[in-house]
Amino acid sequence: MTEAWGPDDDEPRRHHGPVRVRVPAKINLHLGVGPLRSDGFHELNTVYHAISLFDELTARPGDTLTLTMEGEGTGTLALDETNLIMRAARALAARTRVPAYARLHLRKTIPLAGGLAGGSADAAATLLACDLLWGTGLSREELAEVGATIGSDIPFLLHGGTALGTGHGEAISPILARPTTWHWVVAIADGGLSTPEVYGKLDELRASAWPPQPVGDADSLMAALRQRDPEVLAAALGNDLQPAALALRPALADVLKAGNEAGAVTGLVSGSGPTCVFLATDAAHAGQVAAGLNAAGVCREAVTARGPMPGARVT
Ligand code: ATP
Repeated sequence: MTEAWGPDDDEPRRHHGPVRVRVPAKINLHLGVGPLRSDGFHELNTVYHAISLFDELTARPGDTLTLTMEGEGTGTLALDETNLIMRAARALAARTRVPAYARLHLRKTIPLAGGLAGGSADAAATLLACDLLWGTGLSREELAEVGATIGSDIPFLLHGGTALGTGHGEAISPILARPTTWHWVVAIADGGLSTPEVYGKLDELRASAWPPQPVGDADSLMAALRQRDPEVLAAALGNDLQPAALALRPALADVLKAGNEAGAVTGLVSGSGPTCVFLATDAAHAGQVAAGLNAAGVCREAVTARGPMPGARVT
């Protein structure tokens, strides 16, 4: 492999050892979906929130580009050029004109097609890891630009925290609020839901005789965040995709009911589902709600999580 930079260059250095990056899952505290546009997209107005459920991507020097994995989705998730990790590595290499040589390994915890943007998280981690491995020295904003060409959630997963997303979700504005830790329970489902199918179902429901009521606005959610009170936040949470996810997977109603019966402040479908998330008042309360959900047997597993978390970071 040709060295792109000589020892006297001012350019950032290549990394010789493994670069290990941890990246969080996201939930949407508010997900407002605009009407279907003529270009086939929906305008989004969303409040992203990064939670403590992580994937880890390791990048090592290699003579070609390879991807291996362990954990969630192993044996199901294709590791070929369609994988968002491979696409992210190729996009960064093309942008920075370096050869896309790396041995990439994914340790996956975020469930597949769960509405937690695990694939986008992996792509965000790849951009950061390869940028360091290859010494290409892009800023986080430049990495986000490359990421946005692959998936709308990728800029947020580089950024992390809690942020407003507009456009297709790729235009991020951080929400500046006094630091508050929120406690969540994440009910992981058996099997995923296809995001395009959920949007398609929403369009169908909106065209029907009883269209679902749109959720409130992102401003109310942001005002609620500033009050730092779980009851206030609970009243402002909303997801326009929830009726569509429930129509495609009616059993999710049982999950939401079981979470409420287990004492959650409230619950909602995460993004396009089928993961449901529940708000708790503190860590102990989250533990109780998770135990209640696990005992009810309505989901594959309920785990506790905190937010907001930073975006993709080297460990
Ligand atoms: P979305 O970001 O569309 O809301 P999601 O959170 O529901 O998605 P993901 O796990 O991010 O679901 O991925 C959706 C699909 O993307 C998967 O079904 C899979 O086919 C494809 N995909 C490609 N690369 C990856 C990856 N590294 N991890 C997960 N899914 C991937």
